[in-house]
Amino acid sequence: MKNNNCESCMMPLSKDPGQSRSEQYCSYCFKDGKFTYEGNDVNEFKKGSYAEMIKKGMNPIMAKFYTWMIGFAPRWKK
Ligand SMILES: [Zn+2]
Repeated sequence: MKNNNCESCMMPLSKDPGQSRSEQYCSYCFKDGKFTYEGNDVNEFKKGSYAEMIKKGMNPIMAKFYTWMIGFAPRWKK
C-alpha cells in the first residue's frame, strides 16, 4: 500500500509544490537526496516547521494543528 503523506511532516504528497524525487518525503523535508533537517529531535523539527508555515502566511491555528500532526509521522517513531 502506498503512503500518500510525507513520512517526516505528514503533509499530503499530492499538495507538495516541489519535487523531492522521493515517494516517502515531501520536498520541504527531503531535497537533493538528503533531509533538509538531519537531526532526530522532533521538537526542534516541529519548531522549524511551525515557523515555516507562519512565514508562508498560514493561519496560526492550522499551523499548530499541522505541527501537532508531525508527532505522528513514521520518521519520528522510536
Ligand atoms: Zn515533509
